Amino acid sequence: MEQELDYHTLRAALEWQVELGATEAISDAPVDRTVAVEPERPKAPAAAPAAPSVAAAPAPDGPEMAVTAARGAAAQSGSLEALRDALAAYPHCELRKGARNLVFSDGRPGARVMILGEAPGREEDREGRPFVGRAGQLLDKMLAAIGLARDAPDPGHAVYITNILPWRPPQNRDPRPDEIAMMMPFVQRHVTLADPEILVLMGNISCQAVLGRKGITRLRGQWTEAMDRPALPMFHPAFLLRQPAQKRAAWADLLDLQARLKGTE
Ligand code: URA
Repeated sequence: MEQELDYHTLRAALEWQVELGATEAISDAPVDRTVAVEPERPKAPAAAPAAPSVAAAPAPDGPEMAVTAARGAAAQSGSLEALRDALAAYPHCELRKGARNLVFSDGRPGARVMILGEAPGREEDREGRPFVGRAGQLLDKMLAAIGLARDAPDPGHAVYITNILPWRPPQNRDPRPDEIAMMMPFVQRHVTLADPEILVLMGNISCQAVLGRKGITRLRGQWTEAMDRPALPMFHPAFLLRQPAQKRAAWADLLDLQARLKGTE
């Protein structure tokens, strides 16, 4: 039977783990590794090839019902606050269970530019704000280079930022198609309510979700239309951190975005 540990013992155990280098909890329930360890099980015979993840873990009430529920909840949201509340109350996405926070948006609603990223990472999950980790810091520098900032007081120089998924996927894995499908009614409504002039689609996941197309290397820099407004696919800043040589292409896209904003002032 599990032993009840008091607050101070638990806190000391946690501090000990942090000292050893633990940076995040990887399961919901704590595991006391100081008591009897389960003997290693004999190795299972080689597993059959895994079924596609979508089939392996459908939404509890079925993917179609999850999408229908999302459509209804999104349609009834008459403001950004209501949309945030609707997402917070939406029960069909399993990702919410593993996330610390709902990551809804940052920046200025009403900004001329709205950025659509992929999904929160660890820092975003902790803070409940999109793009606050290393990729977010790079994004802020990229925006500043063309005179934009999430907290700029005037909508012409401000941006509004959200993600396709508002909850962090475990271990930052790619969002699954069923998760994207159930979030899209919320994303669509989010764009309608924020009503930007221009959408910037950051990275492959965002392009796939919104345009139904993949291949960011080909898509980036090509203006297109999405959700009734011009949209510009760009490299994701996390990709630019891994591939700094691609910053030149991202810079060209930023200048293009700036020119478009100036041309339609
Ligand atoms: N990457 C994203 O796409 N969004 C975030 O909020 C953080 C990292």
